[in-house]
Amino acid sequence: MAMVLSNSYAELGGAFYQSTPPEPVKDPKLFLWNSPLAEALQLERILDAESPQLAQFFSGNQLLPGSNPMALAYAGHQFGHFVAQLGDGRAHLLGELIDRSGELKELQLKGSGPTPYARNGDGRYALGPAIREFIMGEALYAMGIPTTRALAVITTGETVYRETPNQGAVLSRIATSHLRVGSFEYFAARENLQALQQLCDFAIRRHYPELQGRGEERFVLLLEQVMDRQIDLVVEWLRIGFIHGVMNTDNTTISGETIDYGPCAMMGVYNPDTVFSSIDRAGRYAFGNQPAIAQWNMARLAETLLPLIHRDEKRAVEIASRCLEGFSDLFNDRYRRMMARKIGITQPQPSDAKLISELLQCLQQKRLDYTESFDRLTRSLTSPSLAQQLGRELGDWYEQWQARLSTDGELEQAQSVMRQTNPLVIPRNQQMEQVIRISTQQGDASAAEQFLEVLRSPYTLTDKTEPYQRTSPDADQGYRTFCGT
Ligand code: AMP
Ligand code: MG
Repeated sequence: MAMVLSNSYAELGGAFYQSTPPEPVKDPKLFLWNSPLAEALQLERILDAESPQLAQFFSGNQLLPGSNPMALAYAGHQFGHFVAQLGDGRAHLLGELIDRSGELKELQLKGSGPTPYARNGDGRYALGPAIREFIMGEALYAMGIPTTRALAVITTGETVYRETPNQGAVLSRIATSHLRVGSFEYFAARENLQALQQLCDFAIRRHYPELQGRGEERFVLLLEQVMDRQIDLVVEWLRIGFIHGVMNTDNTTISGETIDYGPCAMMGVYNPDTVFSSIDRAGRYAFGNQPAIAQWNMARLAETLLPLIHRDEKRAVEIASRCLEGFSDLFNDRYRRMMARKIGITQPQPSDAKLISELLQCLQQKRLDYTESFDRLTRSLTSPSLAQQLGRELGDWYEQWQARLSTDGELEQAQSVMRQTNPLVIPRNQQMEQVIRISTQQGDASAAEQFLEVLRSPYTLTDKTEPYQRTSPDADQGYRTFCGT
């Protein structure tokens, strides 16, 4: 087979990872295969989607040519508390390949057996959460949001014990890199400046090549760029109602891609306090808290970079603080622009902030669904009966909005902007649970495949969309997600 993986992380040296092979599984079988991604990676030229070998390769039972399996070292702040040693406990980075557009992509197996970082974990992944990670990644990707993506889910034929016995699975994951804020924290905690600098230069080469050749300035510029991408990412999450659920620094990428879909969920009824994760009792990672947490995570990244930013600690703190202080303005500006587009305004004015916050208050008070409401507003621009209905439901607000739109430009353009900004369909919690239940119980992925097909065209109504637009009858009351996956 021609495909040969490279692994540039290996060149960083032994302090950065532990070389360790995946642990073979009993009876690997292909459950989900991501054809569009395989095509983007030019894999289907060499790997036949029908071949039994796929299950061997993406379970870790056989290694793809050139694989150099390793578990990466990282630390992290979990729910605000620093843990100096985390690392890939159940994942193996196999190497990297070049996709169709010439971009380098890393291939990692998750659930492929315990690594030296596993502590007490079993190194395994349950089928349900693996299906969920696959579907969520594809849904976000289709909505245009930076994310890691799953290439395959392989069932292992083994049982994984969580609260109950589950079928085991190995997920293969594609990312532009698996660098996390926690990767930097790992070396900062060990006061290993040389490794930190190596990591910075690796991140710059991989994600921010325009910073090469910027000398000592590159460290603060790296911070600025990572912050920039994290702001964009959170604004995008807020656009679609995504709640990550566990925004620890070890789950925050340097690339700005969404990673580690553990207890994530979608907000139905608009409420910034929405939180579904069973362990997040204080609501640290609630929907509306995500910008503040992203800012907090960037401060943790900044701390790791201080000794590189300037030799004089006081100067370093000043420089980093100036950068971090920019977070709020940048976020607010992009958030307002994004929200303005959700209501069809492309030339936002300062006064639009009030229009937007009044709409959100109204949705919250009337317990209206976030996704459905913006879709109805969009459609109302060409449906007089729906416009009338919304006029009754939203009162003065609807009239004010209409008046505002008439000053912004053509209604047709407003509607087209809204169509591009407001998804028609999202991976709703109850739908996701049902799809996972059916798929795991029947040992058949067709329910998941159908869901995926719909989620892959989030802005276009097809004859299959409608059933998946239905909101949950109990508005997700009592819905809970779990971390131990
Ligand atoms: P997470 O909460 O999934 O982001 O994981 C936090 C840490 O726990 C990471 O270091 C994971 O690699 C590790 N971990 C989670 N689940 C397992 C498991 N079943 N076996 C080994 N390590 C795990
Ligand atoms: Mg994680």
